[in-house]
Amino acid sequence: MNPEQASAWQQAVLQELGVEVWVRRSAGGEAAPGAAAEPVARISADIESGDWSALNQKIQACTACELHQSCTQAVCGVGDEQADWLVIGEAPGADEDRQGEPFVGRAGQLLNEMLRAAGRPRELVYIANILKCRPPNNRDPKPGEVECCMPFLERQISLLQPKLILVVGRIAAQNLLQTDTPIGKMRGRVYSYGDSGIPVVVTYHPAYLLRSPGQKRKAWEDLQLAMNATGE
Ligand code: SF4
Repeated sequence: MNPEQASAWQQAVLQELGVEVWVRRSAGGEAAPGAAAEPVARISADIESGDWSALNQKIQACTACELHQSCTQAVCGVGDEQADWLVIGEAPGADEDRQGEPFVGRAGQLLNEMLRAAGRPRELVYIANILKCRPPNNRDPKPGEVECCMPFLERQISLLQPKLILVVGRIAAQNLLQTDTPIGKMRGRVYSYGDSGIPVVVTYHPAYLLRSPGQKRKAWEDLQLAMNATGE
């Protein structure tokens, strides 16, 4: 069975099991509207080898989109670089921009509690964002900015090879899974990332849960789904 046949067979089995198979297009493909294709291709080529340290240096030196002009610093990611779980959020906010670390402040504390409840304390996971630089006034990321920055996240996933990706929040989920589906409809199923079929589970952003504490029960259901997806 050649790799293409194996992939098709695996996808058929996963779909039979209710796992939604999704394979992100490879980096360096057609650029999104507003994205500069040349920087995307250049970033992809520039980071295709090298370790975490080299990658973080490239992120911190990046000027590929306009966000580098308004942010305090690029926020690469934080945590165990051999973690089983990768948590992906949207972009740095004001606290993260100031401290250089994703998910700090009240939302970060709630995320920490959620992870601890799932048996994965913050120090045992890796946490990164779709965008490494803070959009002004916390506006939504533009498609071109996501397209420019995505090679960094793809390289982080490649280095980490996590057993599970937990995506928090609508913006992160829609951009990672390339869909307009509302987050409420994305929850409750396991997606599959890339050729290696990494399970992906979507849940609410802790900032939303702070505003809507009645939804915390659903977030707990999402975490249980994540634990089940990795056989825990
Ligand atoms: Fe580079 Fe990403 Fe920052 Fe844009 S947001 S400057 S692509 S690191």
